[in-house]
Amino acid sequence: MKRIYFLRLWLIFLALSIFTFAAKVKYSKWDRSVTFEQYLQNFHIDKKIINTLDRDDQALISEIGYSQRYYELIASNGILLQALIPIGEELQAHLFRTHTGYKLEIIPIAYQKDTHIAILSVDKSPHLDIVNKIKNRRLANEFTRVLKHSVNFRGVQKKDKIVIVYDQKMRLGQPLGVPDIKVAMLESHGKKNYVFKHSDGKYYSANGKALVQKYMGKPLNHIRITSRFTPRRWHPVLHKWKAHHGVDLGAKRGTPILAAADGKVIYSGWMGGYGKVIKIQHEDNYLTLYAHQSRLKAKVGQYVKKGTIIGYTGNSGRSTGPHLHFGLYKNGRPIDPMRLVKFTTDGLTGKERHHFLNRKRKYTKIINKIAEENLPSFIWNTVNDIYVLPKMKTYYKNRGW
Ligand SMILES: [Zn+2]
Repeated sequence: MKRIYFLRLWLIFLALSIFTFAAKVKYSKWDRSVTFEQYLQNFHIDKKIINTLDRDDQALISEIGYSQRYYELIASNGILLQALIPIGEELQAHLFRTHTGYKLEIIPIAYQKDTHIAILSVDKSPHLDIVNKIKNRRLANEFTRVLKHSVNFRGVQKKDKIVIVYDQKMRLGQPLGVPDIKVAMLESHGKKNYVFKHSDGKYYSANGKALVQKYMGKPLNHIRITSRFTPRRWHPVLHKWKAHHGVDLGAKRGTPILAAADGKVIYSGWMGGYGKVIKIQHEDNYLTLYAHQSRLKAKVGQYVKKGTIIGYTGNSGRSTGPHLHFGLYKNGRPIDPMRLVKFTTDGLTGKERHHFLNRKRKYTKIINKIAEENLPSFIWNTVNDIYVLPKMKTYYKNRGW
């Protein structure tokens, strides 16, 4: 089913390219002050085209507006033939011209995902070395972020070891989005400090303790999760790709909405399918979004403290019943709020802990084995065979990784 979908997209692209050989492919950065409606207007496309999407997709498309790169195929006479505009890391709006007019759909972004293992020894500092040797600044930032609460980076010395197991999405030969670190290890004063990512998306120390980190507050006093974050999934009944860039919290109309953290209100008003929305900018490039409100209280430019009432829950926009849609973004990209908001209790217990420790043992075994080979720096890549150590590849395969 998915393959048919991509094939279809290719055929459209091919058809458009063949019959319009004078057309130009443009690759530009989206100006974050431009909305999708304005974009349509620039090409004299009726904005009613948005109404051809279903309710969820209309909400999703109102997220367009963050600085991301997008593609256009434009005819020599200036007419837009096709545009592919990312919405987050997984989906994109596909706008294309047919003989009967424009069509709009939401489709997945095609990418390949590789698992890498990077081993470095420290020359200057962990962050600088990752940037210089792996050429991936986002990986360096993530590494620092996940380890900063368990290691004192100042104690790191020359020749200390770094091990990172991570997934990296690639699109057209370029890294796409933030690398997903599964395990990170930083040796300092002869002690190996590990952090592991669990299936709940949070990081834990080797003994399953939750890492101390500054959590955001709850956006409502009473939490009842009705729908979770989904980067993308194939809907078997609707036969299309869906995504949910936030957590839905059930609450009756008029329930006070609280700011999840200190920050500055940068938006307070209507936002397409999300209805009445407030957006708050926080430190470290985090942004929270509170949608479907009945009444907005906080004003643009206002500084709010964690826990300040910013508005009231409702049913505005494309919503089936009163609830709060709570979205969290880092550098303009949607991330799962469960990662930073303590909706549930801390630490792993029972079956969860057992499962975590089992996985951890597997990881440490492999990492220690690689470290034993004592290679100063290499990257293991599941798809591109350039860096593959055949022995390790078999080792992984036998364990179903
Ligand atoms: Zn929602």
